[in-house]
Amino acid sequence: MKPCQSVGCSELASGAFCRDCLHDRVTALCGPPGAGKTRYVALHKGPGDVVVDFDLLFQALTMLPLFERDPGAFDAACRTREFLRGYLERSRKFRRGWMILLGARHRERDDLHRSGFRVLLLDPGRATCERRLRDDARRSDGLAKRHLSLLDDWYSQYEPHADDELCLPSAS
Ligand SMILES: [Zn+2]
Repeated sequence: MKPCQSVGCSELASGAFCRDCLHDRVTALCGPPGAGKTRYVALHKGPGDVVVDFDLLFQALTMLPLFERDPGAFDAACRTREFLRGYLERSRKFRRGWMILLGARHRERDDLHRSGFRVLLLDPGRATCERRLRDDARRSDGLAKRHLSLLDDWYSQYEPHADDELCLPSAS
């Protein structure tokens, strides 16, 4: 164990930060497609923050339009996300970290809690998500259809977790 790297903290830590300080630094934002996760992070992040968003990683690795999936890049995108997740847990070289993910299952979010993430659940309700997916200009008809089926999956897989924080969606 070494001293926590947070200024003013006297706790000991196995990594760079003690559990409480890590919890203040890294947030995993989970919720169904159309919940407004990207918008939430855009509103709450600040200078020096790092955002790990699978859709944007995929885009960076394929140069394809947002949300388009070339299966050939799937492994690279998953590995990049895992690498960045570890980076968020261990590095001190950023202010705050955000991970955006669907995270419907209890075990997925439990794993994030265990790693020290603050886990926020953003769920404005199925009807709102559905309306947003249909109205979103970034999503073509085919894409909206795929995301509506992911929305069904999310609600059929969702299991609550006692340690999650529920966050209130921003308007519209
Ligand atoms: Zn600390």
